[in-house]
Amino acid sequence: MKWIKRNDSEANYEDRRGRGVKRGATIGGLGAIIIAVIALLLGQDPGQMLNLVGEIIPNQTAQEVIDPSRVNENEDLKVFTLGVFNSANEVWTEVFRKQLNETYRNPVLVNFTEQTTSPCGGASAQTGPFYCPADEKIYIDLDFFHQLASKYGAQGQMAMAYVTAHEVGHHVQKVLGILDQFNQYRGKISEKEFNKLNVKLELQADFFAGLWAYQASRAGIILLEPGDLESAISAANAVGDDTLQKASMGYTVPDSFTHGTSAQRVYWFRKGYETGDINLGDTFSDPSLR
Ligand SMILES: [Zn+2]
Repeated sequence: MKWIKRNDSEANYEDRRGRGVKRGATIGGLGAIIIAVIALLLGQDPGQMLNLVGEIIPNQTAQEVIDPSRVNENEDLKVFTLGVFNSANEVWTEVFRKQLNETYRNPVLVNFTEQTTSPCGGASAQTGPFYCPADEKIYIDLDFFHQLASKYGAQGQMAMAYVTAHEVGHHVQKVLGILDQFNQYRGKISEKEFNKLNVKLELQADFFAGLWAYQASRAGIILLEPGDLESAISAANAVGDDTLQKASMGYTVPDSFTHGTSAQRVYWFRKGYETGDINLGDTFSDPSLR
């Protein structure tokens, strides 16, 4: 893919590269001890919980530079990811207006190095990119893209774009109320049934990623090139649960798939990529996924 008009705006961007909440800087003394005791009683890591509390309390969320050598790390990947993120918001604003007659709201993109905190828990490069519905932010450690290329063989810009657009897809699900509906089933149905729903949720985010590519190209933001579909598909393959499970355990366990098989991910991404029509992305009522 090539940029035709890349939007570098940082209006919805939070740069935490080389930054963090200085431990002890926000909560000290007795407060910290009490939180540490509560954390231990709950079986949580006290350090992580302190960071989390610091994050939640207003006016104490300031991220300070803790490693000046890393504040501009992976700058080229940052510029690229931010461009994809901004273009996805432009695309979804239009799709909501034209196809759904609804209003879209922008999420925030957070880049960090090594680790950070979120209302959804701590994050590290191992966690991989994720979307936190509680603060409507997408968390990406840019180093993940090196892993994607080296460890999983998913190369090319479209592979990275797919990952970013997939996370924005989860935000779209939040805005549409799909994530809330999904969470209502938590603990109310069997684990096996819940996992099936989870797969549908993930495949829909893949469909939304494909839809982004179609619409961003149609809007003249990006130019799709030969090999782009394959590049995205290799990323979909790489982060499919069966591949990740094979890599970590050497075998696959069908019942615990939460992202779907690689073949399913490719199918739904391609469907969005070739149609650009949100009405065709209802993975929840698709007969093949019952
Ligand atoms: Zn996902």
